[in-house]
Amino acid sequence: MSYPLRWVNSYVLPSSTGVAIIDPGPRSSITEEEWGNALEHLGYTLKDVNKIFVTHHHPDHFGLAGWFQSQGGCKVYMSQRAYAESLLMWGSNSNMNTELTSWLRQHGLPVTLATQMEQHLLEFLPQVSPTPEITIVDDGSYVTLGGRSWMAIESGGHAPGHLSLYHQDLGIMMCGDAILPQISPNISLIPGSDPEPLYTFMNSLHRLKEYKVNEAFPGHRDPFHTVQQRIEELLNHHEERLIKIEQLLCHSSQSGYEICCTLFGNNLSTHQMRFAICEALAHLQELVRRGKAGTLVSSLDGSIKFTTLL
Ligand SMILES: [Zn+2]
Ligand SMILES: [Zn+2]
Repeated sequence: MSYPLRWVNSYVLPSSTGVAIIDPGPRSSITEEEWGNALEHLGYTLKDVNKIFVTHHHPDHFGLAGWFQSQGGCKVYMSQRAYAESLLMWGSNSNMNTELTSWLRQHGLPVTLATQMEQHLLEFLPQVSPTPEITIVDDGSYVTLGGRSWMAIESGGHAPGHLSLYHQDLGIMMCGDAILPQISPNISLIPGSDPEPLYTFMNSLHRLKEYKVNEAFPGHRDPFHTVQQRIEELLNHHEERLIKIEQLLCHSSQSGYEICCTLFGNNLSTHQMRFAICEALAHLQELVRRGKAGTLVSSLDGSIKFTTLL
């Protein structure tokens, strides 16, 4: 994967009854072939895979779930909320590509970038097809994977309905993208999804911090031991960024796109720009929720700017 993620981790948990995979990765002819090679290397075939557990609906995690199911009929586990989010993004009734880009236009995204983004969003469809049949996993329930029983912990912010898996005796958490080492998980405000994603994310981190974890296995980068410390770093990072944006608004009212360019620059790929502007908007929304910023909507064209309330 491109920087900063670099790669996605798929975890293989074998047992006497079959192989479980946590987050199979995005679908492409390359990843299909890689899985065939990897399973063969481990002494299994595609037919041995009987369970796929999906932490969240993003294509780099959820993508191959339907393909694996079409190969050997495995069960695919995810949360109800994550499944709903996958339909919002890529279901047959979804028009997220036009909805998201016209909403971002209101937030100042230039038309050329919006047009590119509209096309770019369609490119994800082959990565997440076909849509699997889902076995729903509820928050706090237990799933047996690799011969062990894991508790599912639902969180949000990075992705609604994200499930981490926790094994208390081993002190292991399979944390998907809920907590990442080195990288701050993207927090995006998206129309029709969580209206307060940064607030949800920070609340989720406080919740995940309550578990005793010796080692966490993330969706990207290497396994890590310093979970409590990493959670503190992420919370501080977002508080610092909120202060920075608040200061920017003190100088003048600004659009989400203007704040995005100040924070992240405007020389980003289409893919990165979507994450960047939606993250800037998630922060702006959190300032609105805290009563520190308000919105100004143009009566001429409906464009939106954020302003300080102090
Ligand atoms: Zn993700
Ligand atoms: Zn990811």
